[in-house]
Amino acid sequence: MAVMNRVLKDSYNRTIRDLRVSLTDRCNFRCFYCLPHGEPPIAPKEQMLSYEEIEYACDIFVELGIQKIRLTGGEPMMRRDIEQIIYKLALFKDRGLEDLALTTNGYFLPHRAESLKKAGLDRITISLDSLKRDVFKQMTGVDVLDRVLEGIHAAKEAGLEPIKINAVIVRGHNADEVADFAAFARAHNVKMRFIEFMPLDSGHDWSRADVFSGREIRESIETRFPLVAVEGLRGSNTASRFRFADGAPGEIGIIAPVTEPFCGACSRIRLTADGQIRTCLFSTVEHSLRDVIRDGASRPEIIDFIESVVMKKEPRHFINDPGFIAPARTMSFIGG
Ligand code: SAM
Repeated sequence: MAVMNRVLKDSYNRTIRDLRVSLTDRCNFRCFYCLPHGEPPIAPKEQMLSYEEIEYACDIFVELGIQKIRLTGGEPMMRRDIEQIIYKLALFKDRGLEDLALTTNGYFLPHRAESLKKAGLDRITISLDSLKRDVFKQMTGVDVLDRVLEGIHAAKEAGLEPIKINAVIVRGHNADEVADFAAFARAHNVKMRFIEFMPLDSGHDWSRADVFSGREIRESIETRFPLVAVEGLRGSNTASRFRFADGAPGEIGIIAPVTEPFCGACSRIRLTADGQIRTCLFSTVEHSLRDVIRDGASRPEIIDFIESVVMKKEPRHFINDPGFIAPARTMSFIGG
């Protein structure tokens, strides 16, 4: 039986279907494009949402028409109760949730992919910025390429498919590996997602010159593997999708928020680990759902709050405007 939930709309008539929930702002990697100078002061435990609060908030979001929940961070697998959270959220499948996914750096997957699947996780996205040990270490701050590759293998074995692999492409670091990643997608039948470097690094060292554009990514792949655009509406998907012209397995997605913004079709909002709603990755303001819940608001009052916050969703990001100000919190706090 189809579930008739309410619908969350913003003031530009965009429907919000996709919620990203950051489970923690802690991370065991030090990717230079995110947390280059070590961890900034992390929120004290009492400010973080407990798993019951996450469950309650998601319960309300699903009633409001959220169909996709992606768990992220920080590194979400550093949260010891992650299986419990997944188990609770997977129960919302009966109430309109269609997709429960996780983004992880893959470090903990060799031993835990199976338990995530058992808990009810549908899909997984694993970050992998280089296929070369030295570049991987230079970009992530940790020398664990083999372990992440083992994690990808474990996720496949556990059936967490389709597996997506995220690579942030930065000029002068891994841009020469783009076609190798495409070869990896073909060999392992995974969906490669190439992401443009965004100004979300804690060091605020981002420079436009470092952005290897979506167009350059596509051209690099096509020097070795001709691509064909995947038919159909892009909808609110972040990625432009391609398959290999020769019919090989695997898929390519190019996420180009800097050079080809897709804000007009954005269906996303975010909940940070300390319970703040962010209506855009680049928002400079946050709205404390945590305080509303902890102050004892009733369910209808919480719904009113969420609806009023969503109405404030920005029309677009302003990365390309002269007066752009990068958000104070980095991707690791916002939840990528
Ligand atoms: N720790 C998990 C991981 O590594 O996938 C989840 C959180 S991480 C912040 C989510 C995604 O954001 C990763 O794929 C990461 O590469 C991406 N990311 C972080 N900082 C970024 C930036 N400045 N530009 C583009 N993507 C970024």
